[in-house]
Amino acid sequence: MSLLKLEGVESFYGASQALFGVSLEVKQGEVVALMGRNGMGKTTTIRSIFGLVRVRTGSIRFENRDIAGMRPHRIARLGLGLVPEGRRCFPNLTVSENLMAAARTGEWTFTKVVELFPRLAERRDQYANTLSGGEQQMLAVGRALMTNPRLLVLDEATEGLAPVIRQDIWSAIAKLKAGGQSILVVDKTLSELLRVVDRCFILEKGATVFEGAPEALTPDMQDRYLGV
Ligand code: ATP
Repeated sequence: MSLLKLEGVESFYGASQALFGVSLEVKQGEVVALMGRNGMGKTTTIRSIFGLVRVRTGSIRFENRDIAGMRPHRIARLGLGLVPEGRRCFPNLTVSENLMAAARTGEWTFTKVVELFPRLAERRDQYANTLSGGEQQMLAVGRALMTNPRLLVLDEATEGLAPVIRQDIWSAIAKLKAGGQSILVVDKTLSELLRVVDRCFILEKGATVFEGAPEALTPDMQDRYLGV
């Protein structure tokens, strides 16, 4: 079943066009990668999904409902959870306050989040701005999970993190996948990304140029579209 489907999406920052035809699909229970070199439109695609950038043409359907043009808070309430680039937790709230502020009814609770990220249990009374980058990313993922999203979206899942912490994030993503969580993920560490995803979409200059299984992504294509 299709959970999220973008067809021919064109988006603008003011008068400046950033997306020129993005198509993308995440089916129920799938982990999907959105890939492409810097500036190709990954973040803009995510911002379009969440109603943060103006979509002029094309459609964005979530559980078969057209969400293009809807207000961001309404979109989030439909069951989309975002872990934005740069994390963005509330700096002056503690770890547990950050998590509880995001809570919505469902299987994800404080207890379940700290089971996934035991570090957050150790840090529960610390202010978010005293956490390391990796801990902040765990908190950002935890906050998104606390909303009990039908689809979890991670923009730059492991960017700027130490290798050992990156592994923690990838293993959390693998656990979420095993639990049936649908995920859309952007990241630059190709090897880890390709290991965990079911399907990939590649953007080039604001348009989708490849859709397929990770095995279908030849070294040639990686070189051409991802600059590997
Ligand atoms: P990166 O990996 O560097 O984050 P990206 O694939 O996420 O890149 P976007 O950030 O979506 O790419 O950028 C797509 C295009 O939109 C680029 O040409 C960029 O210059 C432009 N763009 C991004 N943000 C804005 C903005 N706030 N105003 C105007 N143009 C923007």
